[in-house]
Amino acid sequence: MVLLRRIVATKILEQWRAPVATGVKAQRNFSDVAPPRPLSVLTDEELAMKDTIRKLATEQIGPLVKKMEDEHRIDDGVKQLLFDNGLMGIETPEKYSGSGCGFLTMMLVVEELSRVDPAVAALVDIHNTLVNSLFMKIGTEEQKQKYLTKLCTEYAGSFCLTEPTSGSDAFSLKTVAKKDGDHYIINGSKMWISNSDIAGVFLVMANADPSKGYKGITCFIVERETPGLSVAKPENKLGIRASGTCMVHFDNVRVPESNILGEYGHGYKYAAGFLNEGRIGIASQMIGLCQGCMDATIPYTLERKQFGNKIYAYQGISYQIAHLQTQLEAARLLTYNAARLKENGLPFVKEAAMAKYYASEIAQTLTSKCIDFMGGVGFTRDFPQEKFFRDAKIGTIYEGTSNMQLQTIAKLIEKEYTQ
Ligand SMILES: Cc1cc2nc3c(=O)[nH]c(=O)nc-3n(C[C@H](O)[C@H](O)[C@H](O)COP(=O)(O)OP(=O)(O)OC[C@H]3O[C@@H](n4cnc5c(N)ncnc54)[C@H](O)[C@@H]3O)c2cc1C
Repeated sequence: MVLLRRIVATKILEQWRAPVATGVKAQRNFSDVAPPRPLSVLTDEELAMKDTIRKLATEQIGPLVKKMEDEHRIDDGVKQLLFDNGLMGIETPEKYSGSGCGFLTMMLVVEELSRVDPAVAALVDIHNTLVNSLFMKIGTEEQKQKYLTKLCTEYAGSFCLTEPTSGSDAFSLKTVAKKDGDHYIINGSKMWISNSDIAGVFLVMANADPSKGYKGITCFIVERETPGLSVAKPENKLGIRASGTCMVHFDNVRVPESNILGEYGHGYKYAAGFLNEGRIGIASQMIGLCQGCMDATIPYTLERKQFGNKIYAYQGISYQIAHLQTQLEAARLLTYNAARLKENGLPFVKEAAMAKYYASEIAQTLTSKCIDFMGGVGFTRDFPQEKFFRDAKIGTIYEGTSNMQLQTIAKLIEKEYTQ
């Protein structure tokens, strides 16, 4: 906390954040003060945060990346580092032990962590955008006091939507919650649940009234120690291997009615709404990963000599790098734009889908090309490109596949042309 709080206390931040904090819709009139800021120009607080997290990630997480990858788990020291520096409650208000930063700042943290380890970034991103955010925006004061404080200081959170038979078609989920007096009994299994290896609390989408179809879906808070909840062993994944992704089973898990988060039957709205925000986080993860891969590759092309010249001197290399850097910059601008729109209460769903779609698609090409530029050494585990290449693959899958992003974008385009 200490680190983020110190950075947050600048006047400039207050000026930028005020309308968001008061929930005023999109009405900050930049032109009253100055011409609109270019998207790539960050506030003092955002810039300070980006620099600080870059240093912290490079110096304190960097040396442990390989170990975490090999052990398929986030190092305990790294986990503690994230809590100690307020990164597990970036947007959460200080009264719940959070850091009270803005949405774009959160995205910059994810970007900078991903530059060093996209698996650590996945933990921070999902915990902040899909768990803390739900508690903050739809939780009762009692739920916030009880869970948010611990989520910022003690344990990770998991968001449980996907099931073995419901992925893209998420709202066809089969997990049920049956009313029993003033309790609900949850039965079912969730698949691919990030952070579930270490989570202390799970947000579980279960259908409390299947006769109403997806309108029965309700969000339940389930504590890890609740009898009947079990977490399977982590999946053996292609990339972000340190991020624990497991199946979570609910076998007659009994929770009090007071553990409903938000309104009964509104779970589908929350899942869809918060995943829209979360997608900007995945875009941030992808641009950070691309930057990390470029930073590891370009210096090599400037040093490696073949036919008497550094390989960067050949247009076959340097033009490709110029092309990829241009795509990366475009992805970054899409991502920052979606984040700024969200932060200012403006519609952002199409822009978030575009950012996630584009950033994760270019990440596939960029990381693959970087391996090409490295030649044989890029094909070894001694250099970071192969990990970035494997980690990039998740971008086109979780929080909605690329096809699902295109579906959202296409629907919104159709609406624009038919209204
Ligand atoms: C590492 C990892 C972490 C994850 N973390 C979480 C988590 O924390 N919480 C959680 O709830 N879920 C999580 N997920 C689940 C993730 O969101 C789903 O995997 C994703 O939504 C895709 O679902 P699926 O795997 O069932 O693929 P499917 O839905 O079966 O899709 C398979 C293919 O079919 C395509 N497809 C499907 N329907 C259509 C259509 N209508 N039109 C065109 N193409 C279509 C898809 O684009 C995809 O290419 C995670 C997944 C992974 C791999």
